[in-house]
Amino acid sequence: MTSTLKYTSISEIDEIHARLLRTFHSGVTRPLPYRRKQLLQLARLCQENHKALEDALYTDLAKPRLETTMAEISMIVGASISAADKLEEWATPDKPEVAEAWRASWDTTVYKTPKGVVCIIAPWNYPYTLSLTALIGAIAAGCTAVVKPSELAPVTAQLLAELFPKYLDPASYAIVNGAVEETTQILKLKWNHLFFTGGIRVGRIVAAAAAKFITPFTLELGGKSPVFVDVDNTDIDIAAKRILWGRQLNTGQVCVAPDYVLVPRHGQDKLIAALVKAYESFWPEGPFAKSSDLGNMVNAAHRDRVLELVTRTKGHVVLGGRAEGDRKIEPTIVRDVGLNDSLMEDEIFGPILPIVPVDDVEEALRIIHEQRAGVPLVVYLFSENEGTKEKFLNQSESGSLVMNDTFMQLAVHEMPFGGKGESGYGGYYGKASFDTFTHLRSFVNIPLAAEGFFQGRYPPYSKEAYEF
Ligand code: NAD
Repeated sequence: MTSTLKYTSISEIDEIHARLLRTFHSGVTRPLPYRRKQLLQLARLCQENHKALEDALYTDLAKPRLETTMAEISMIVGASISAADKLEEWATPDKPEVAEAWRASWDTTVYKTPKGVVCIIAPWNYPYTLSLTALIGAIAAGCTAVVKPSELAPVTAQLLAELFPKYLDPASYAIVNGAVEETTQILKLKWNHLFFTGGIRVGRIVAAAAAKFITPFTLELGGKSPVFVDVDNTDIDIAAKRILWGRQLNTGQVCVAPDYVLVPRHGQDKLIAALVKAYESFWPEGPFAKSSDLGNMVNAAHRDRVLELVTRTKGHVVLGGRAEGDRKIEPTIVRDVGLNDSLMEDEIFGPILPIVPVDDVEEALRIIHEQRAGVPLVVYLFSENEGTKEKFLNQSESGSLVMNDTFMQLAVHEMPFGGKGESGYGGYYGKASFDTFTHLRSFVNIPLAAEGFFQGRYPPYSKEAYEF
């Protein structure tokens, strides 16, 4: 397996853009059979190279193979095949119900046309899912597309660059590899849609670049996603297991990870006891044991950033907190965390679970509204109480609201996934991905034979026509 990432040169980036623009203008990507074939080829790319894709991600992040298969490869295969199946239905033009006066003779149709040449900029934490799920939408919509993987997952980025031309039409789809300089060059070019997944800092750079050409864009960002555990109205053992699983997945480097837990003060001990039980069942020999399936932090700098938050916390570390080598951190549970704590400053993006005691559900909702990180990507609620569920449905804000589990909302491709406010702009998955890369082109054909109807609109304007 190739391990050094070859960056795309600046002149090559310009050439790729020009090539993809020519292809788009040629109309090659518009027929549905072409798009269907490319979607199935993408599924084939994942199936035939399953092991190599897993190995690459293991090298980059020590990601457990089960997680790569479950949350990346099988998701992309399923989404590609499903898009190929649904293509006809999604792309069928709409015939809107128009005013009676126009209905008889006018042809009014809304065509689903491809936006054009698009660019997908992806992060490192789910390097396949977060680049290829958006690509599925772009292919389905009939766009040509550049995918820019993250340089921080170099082995997967290089593998994608090698596999793309073997499976997908190189005239229409390309990988550009690189870091800030290369992405800056990408952002100087005119795209018909920019699709960015990453942090808010770079999100702002992308939005500013989009403004130059009035380019539509999608921002899939992160943030602090809270969990409220209604201890008296849930099965606490199941809740603890589901929260801890969501927090430790990909070593906590997940945009939708439960970032902190709000719990009624009187129930904190009960929740901690259940979390300790779940922890011991997940890692009976400790998280650093060979059999533990604990992946790596992406690099030493991110490991140090997360460890520093733990060092500064005023909360009490119940379990975990140790580091090993230069990229491992134990899943860590911290109790009695206050609102001004280091762990409450920004998205943690590591396997640390702070527990914040609150007076009641109203205080929990207020904390969520006022959190410095802005509107969360997800709000999680563990409760069987109808009143509490209603309060969260009607009084909290977030990209998604998920009850009684974590992470699994991403398995539902029939609903749009995206943020709100600081956690992002726009959504995708399934048909929403197709819609993201589609322009709704309104078409009207007014027959010449309708001329009699228009007589009153021409000057000189008559009083009769005005009164009509
Ligand atoms: P990042 O913003 O640092 O990088 C994302 C991409 O931007 C990479 O391809 C990188 O090469 C490029 N980039 C970096 N600096 C740039 C610059 N100055 N100019 C132009 N491009 C630049 O994000 P990351 O560290 O790769 O990912 C972590 C963040 O992504 C977290 O905040 C996480 O919550 C978020 N995220 C969001 C989602 C979602 O679907 N909402 C999914 C995964 C990750």
